[in-house]
Amino acid sequence: MKTTIDGIDYPIPAPHCDPQVLHAPGVCRYCDAYPKWQTKRTVAKMLFTGELPREGWQPCAAEKARGMDSINAGPGNRPADSKGDTLVER
Ligand SMILES: [Zn+2]
Repeated sequence: MKTTIDGIDYPIPAPHCDPQVLHAPGVCRYCDAYPKWQTKRTVAKMLFTGELPREGWQPCAAEKARGMDSINAGPGNRPADSKGDTLVER
C-alpha cells in the first residue's frame, strides 16, 4: 500500500510516524527495511531526512514542511540503530 503526498508516493505503513521522514541507507534500522523507497528517493534526487543540502537535490519533504526540530520532537520520527535505540536525544 502507499499514500501520495504532494505528488510523491510513500509506503503504508511508513517507517516513521511522519510518512515523509526517510533516513539514508545505513542510518536507521526502520528506514533500512524500506530499501525500495530509499532507492526511489535517491533516483528522485530528494535528500534524506537530516542530510546536509546537496547541489541539485531537493530538500527532504518532511524537513521542508516542518523542520528538523518539529520532526525530532516526535520519538516515532527519530532514527534508530539496530537495537532500536534512538540516535537523536531530546
Ligand atoms: Zn528512519
